[in-house]
Amino acid sequence: MSVSPFKAALKLKCPQCGKGNLFSCSNPYNFKKLTDMPDHCPECGLSFMPEPGFYYGAMYVSYALTIALSVFNFIWIYMLWGFVVMPYLVINSTLLILLIPVFFRYGRSYYLALIYKIEKGSGKRRSHNE
Ligand SMILES: [Zn+2]
Repeated sequence: MSVSPFKAALKLKCPQCGKGNLFSCSNPYNFKKLTDMPDHCPECGLSFMPEPGFYYGAMYVSYALTIALSVFNFIWIYMLWGFVVMPYLVINSTLLILLIPVFFRYGRSYYLALIYKIEKGSGKRRSHNE
């Protein structure tokens, strides 16, 4: 049975089996364990750290999420109150700051799923399947 890597990423699960948790602690607001990930998927053995510095690319994903949320906030604030700068800046920056740990994790999750999907499509494997 194969799972969609992006559906698995939404649940912060392994892109290969969709069962193993990507992060050791499920609460993203536990800052001491925010970045803790097992080296390999506990269910299927897929490497969660395929190479040193792998997750630098996750910054682009969390950047895209940040832009998407900012555009979304602009639209609903514009529809409610028209073009108001200060309320937008206050609401948007508050939400972005509060969601830093969430975007950080989804950045990693979706980046891993994206690279997994690309490499699976090209026939390259970086997992350690038994
Ligand atoms: Zn797995």
